Amino acid sequence: IKPYKSISIRKEMIDYIADYLKNIRCRRVFPDVSPGYMRNLVPEAAPLEGESWEEIFRDVERVIMPGVTHWQSPYMHAYFPALNSFPSLLGDMLADAIGCLGFTWASSPACTELEIIVMDWLAKMIGLPPEFLHSNKQTMGGGVIQLTASDSTFIALLAARTEAFRKYKCVNIGLDDAEINARLVAYCSDQAHSSVEKAGLIALVKMRYIPSDDDLSMRGYALQEAINKDREQGLIPFYVCATLGTTGACAFDNLKELGEAEGLWLHIDAAYAGTAFICQEYRKYMEGIEYVHSFAFNPSKWLMVHFDCTAMWVKNSGILHRTFNVDPLYLKHENSGAAIDFMHWQIPLSRRFRALKLWFVIRSFGVEGIQHHIRKGENELTEMLLKRLNKSGKLHMVPAALKGKYVIRFTVTSQYTNKSDIERDWKIISNMATTILKDEEY
Ligand code: PLP
Repeated sequence: IKPYKSISIRKEMIDYIADYLKNIRCRRVFPDVSPGYMRNLVPEAAPLEGESWEEIFRDVERVIMPGVTHWQSPYMHAYFPALNSFPSLLGDMLADAIGCLGFTWASSPACTELEIIVMDWLAKMIGLPPEFLHSNKQTMGGGVIQLTASDSTFIALLAARTEAFRKYKCVNIGLDDAEINARLVAYCSDQAHSSVEKAGLIALVKMRYIPSDDDLSMRGYALQEAINKDREQGLIPFYVCATLGTTGACAFDNLKELGEAEGLWLHIDAAYAGTAFICQEYRKYMEGIEYVHSFAFNPSKWLMVHFDCTAMWVKNSGILHRTFNVDPLYLKHENSGAAIDFMHWQIPLSRRFRALKLWFVIRSFGVEGIQHHIRKGENELTEMLLKRLNKSGKLHMVPAALKGKYVIRFTVTSQYTNKSDIERDWKIISNMATTILKDEEY
């Protein structure tokens, strides 16, 4: 028995994590290593005898950290936000320690019950219609935490397919699922994330990429045109995945037009931008939400709940049940049918207690704290930057408001301004911006 069971050593890791996050600016954000760098740092085979915790812990800095891209660094500007926060980390630590698998209500009642509660909280926070709430007893709607937005897009497509099979079998008696599947067509914009394409690939469903307009938005008329063409060919349009906040340019598809255009299953992928709907002023992009059948966004991106955590809602969970319809005896319990068993809402059986970190984060920051977090990055910091730059006396600028956005106007006014003057000014601006981000604990 090695000594890593002692309490003090377990606390050492907590200190390490706290120090790591506090001092993260001291590390280069992108590692300077080549493929295979780790090979020479660790033995060729697993140790025969257990090692001491001290030896293992030492290797975190020696072996792991040199190859880490520090996603939590304020200097990280690649991909998308994948933020964590202390309440989130603590929530997951507790979840990992409890280590329950909440596939059915009975497999750990608190896991399911808390998920139902926080998903209703979150639905209200982003302004989803009541049909998406567990607490609304008029519908079979509700939310579930999925692993990723990609999973949610795929799950929604499978549910839409189940509905398409049911509908077309009613009017075309004798057709089997495979024959219908071969005629199904799904739609998304040419700006949609690659996970939508992947969902179509896995489900063996044709995917049409609707050309977006000049604002990179998928529009109703373009969708309708594609649907009409497909219908003329004898195909069966059944699913649209619209994006609110595309990966490339954070563009928004026109939900209202898409919903009015056709009564297909409308799934919303709001993976990145969905958190912004906690602020009322961004809800304009949700106009048409009443047409939507399923909606997903990633608290694991902008809501400071670290990966993995995708919030997904459906209006009719009965279709998910029919899609993932397995019910072995060993998973039945006294409350089967009466309580929610989330295993029927997802592809895998097992699921972690992810609601804990979401609950901790929402409670710690409060709705107002989260709204502040979303809004703060915009106007407040830019305003502060301008004030400090002007106060420095090194250059002088004035602001402008562009559709509610505070921007700094940099105008070249003198006939003597040259390239090196502008480079000098840019250096001052970027250094000041970095200092502000540091001061504000970004
Ligand atoms: N959809 C959009 C719009 C995204 O921006 C991303 C990731 O950047 C994804 C889906 C994929 O998210 P996930 O990794 O949760 O599957």
